[in-house]
Amino acid sequence: MPEAPSHFIRTIIEADLASRKHRSVATRFPPEPNGYLHIGHAKSICLNFGLARQYGGTCNLRFDDTNPSKEDVEYVDAIMADVRWLGFDWEDRLFYASDYFERLYECAVALVRAGKAYVDSLSADEIRAHRGTLTAPGVASPYRGRSIEESLDLFARMRAGEFPDGTHVLRARIDMASPNLTMRDPTLYRIRRVHHHRTGDAWCIYPMYDFTHCLSDSFEGITHSICTLEFENNRPLYDWVLDALGRECHPQQIEFARLNLSYTLMSKRKLLELVREGHVAGWDDPRMPTLSGLRRRGYTPEAIRDFCDRIGVSKRDSVVDVAMLEHSVRDDLNKRAPRFMAVLQPLRVVIENYPEDGVEELEAVNNPEDPAMGTRRVPFARVLYVERDDFREDPPRKFYRLAPGTEVRLRYAYYVRCVGVVKDPASGEVVELRCTYDPESRGGGTPDGRKVKATLHWVSAAHAVDAEVRLYDRLFVHETPDAIKDADYRSFLNPESLVTLPACKVEPALASLRPGDRVQFERQGYFCVDGTTPLVFNRTVSLRDTWAKIEQAESRAPQRG
Ligand code: ATP
Ligand code: MG
Repeated sequence: MPEAPSHFIRTIIEADLASRKHRSVATRFPPEPNGYLHIGHAKSICLNFGLARQYGGTCNLRFDDTNPSKEDVEYVDAIMADVRWLGFDWEDRLFYASDYFERLYECAVALVRAGKAYVDSLSADEIRAHRGTLTAPGVASPYRGRSIEESLDLFARMRAGEFPDGTHVLRARIDMASPNLTMRDPTLYRIRRVHHHRTGDAWCIYPMYDFTHCLSDSFEGITHSICTLEFENNRPLYDWVLDALGRECHPQQIEFARLNLSYTLMSKRKLLELVREGHVAGWDDPRMPTLSGLRRRGYTPEAIRDFCDRIGVSKRDSVVDVAMLEHSVRDDLNKRAPRFMAVLQPLRVVIENYPEDGVEELEAVNNPEDPAMGTRRVPFARVLYVERDDFREDPPRKFYRLAPGTEVRLRYAYYVRCVGVVKDPASGEVVELRCTYDPESRGGGTPDGRKVKATLHWVSAAHAVDAEVRLYDRLFVHETPDAIKDADYRSFLNPESLVTLPACKVEPALASLRPGDRVQFERQGYFCVDGTTPLVFNRTVSLRDTWAKIEQAESRAPQRG
């Protein structure tokens, strides 16, 4: 695979290595265990672990677990499984911000001792009201002048559980008139009696993200603390905390644009709503942009890493076309997925001139992209199934597939001609086609060289295996489902995002697949085995590649300039 293009973060790292500011690179991936990882997180994982790998450094996995009311071990476990699945390894560097609670508390006490933090006894609403706006400075709390001794005493008693939730907070003493609202005496600690999934009930005060994150980075010796653009305003606070405490290890925070994907929601809160309200079957529903959903959908880690390389890293927010993600998975599966024939909506075909109990085995290519994948034998017999949609009783112009009187090629088999149509007398529905075959056309050509314009897939009725096929499509019909003013994203849910076909007929060779195996159904798309008893396939992606078309069109377009 060609190396991904360079970007501004690499430039910074290379300069730091060249100037000996750092001798090695240490990054971290810091998820909050309040949901499952999604494709946006994959960008951050590939970036952080990728940089460490590229420069021979290290990348830590750190759970940013300071908000226990929304966090859970279920998420911790799922996140670890997903990072590993994506192909990255934190070795022995698994950390939890909650493991630092005692050290963080000591740091907070040190700030109070240095006169750089104080206990405020305003309510949360009052603090908000005092904060001011972008155009108006904040107003100092009446408690801002509290003595060091009094704050130390109150903070100790906050920890000891003497006060109800919300009665006091610890705040940094910075600048109530700062043009950056984040710097107007931000809250560092609050009282919250919530059970923590790791520390249990040991604490009733919890540190805020801005205080915890920079210190956790510093404790771990991180060199480059990479985060998304919305933290740009928090960078002065990141630096302030580390400077105020005189931390020798002072990582550099670097922001990049988060990934947004068209037709996709990326907010964990909304993804949780989709799960809770039953719009999807769970976090790993194949329509979810979560890594566990993409995995069940049939995405490979290679395809996701390739996608993350292609989208690059920048400082400008944008929306990436989901077709690009689909292109990456097609590209990967095209090389590795074996081909099979599967009839999703079967229509019975009887070959009138084929022997009643005749069976022959025809040779089929497993993957035209990779001869090493070999061939297999596919049984052919007098009664077959073809795709209902490949027949039209009254064919429109340019419909070259089966119709009364027309001849087509059956893939790897023979030419067949439709000579009759059997209908259900009650409903008028076509229930069977009567065909004849040309014995001379075995393998797909005839001595007289006559041409047919269509090649159809098929399965032998007696040999076929039953399967259920789930056709997944985009979950939303709108490109930016959560960015439309006055519209609820739920109103853009795609009612056809899942179409279940319960009575498909597939090649017998498919019966031996294992869950998670990925295949191409010829002419249909890529599919992944979801279960084997009964046999269920999830469609990963159809064969139609809109992204490749866009790229081709762009390369054909006249050069401007
Ligand atoms: P929350 O609102 O719960 O904080 P989050 O999406 O920021 O949601 P985190 O668990 O804090 O979730 O994210 C872990 C890391 O992944 C962070 O460094 C974050 O910046 C990064 N990340 C999250 N979403 C994206 C995205 N869409 N693109 C790139 N990186 C992302
Ligand atoms: Mg976050």
